Amino acid sequence: MALDFQELVQAALDRKADHAAIALSSQINFVPEFRKACEQDTCRKYGTNWMCPPGVGPFEELKAKALEYKQGLFFQTVHQIASSFDLKGMYAAKKVHDPIFREIMDYFRTRTEIKRMLPLNAGACELCARCTYLDDKQPCRFPDQAFPSVEAYGIDVINLEKAINIPYYNGKNTVSYVGMILFEAE
Ligand code: SF4
Repeated sequence: MALDFQELVQAALDRKADHAAIALSSQINFVPEFRKACEQDTCRKYGTNWMCPPGVGPFEELKAKALEYKQGLFFQTVHQIASSFDLKGMYAAKKVHDPIFREIMDYFRTRTEIKRMLPLNAGACELCARCTYLDDKQPCRFPDQAFPSVEAYGIDVINLEKAINIPYYNGKNTVSYVGMILFEAE
């Protein structure tokens, strides 16, 4: 039976994504300079996590991996915070976003026929209190549950959101996190 893309979108909305749409991988801009932003370490995760640079792999390799898929489900969660400097609020919002991302992932794994997929989340993997990358780069404890970030792949999220009619600004004192599950349709 043909995969109903609209059902995937609805499944994301039912699991509390605020916005969701199907994106073609041809609509994605991969920007190597975004990886340079990672190297500047503004988020303090560079070199601390298997799902972030440099542990996640070189840009060109990741881009090629993403382009093996024709399309993906893109979704966004939106959260109210006290101000644009509210780091605590942003951190708490990510703690709300991640379980939503995992629920949508579970839907793909258990309720669809999709066999090949590439899930990308927002930011570093926070599954373990301390990533094994920090311990002499010991192997990841949960490779099936650790998802690289859209940032590590150099994906231009704002341009993609514009292309698929998802708002990239959700109003004053909000923070938005995204996820994208690239998948093979048959
Ligand atoms: S699952 Fe744990 S060890 Fe693996 S990338 Fe995530 S935090 Fe690191």
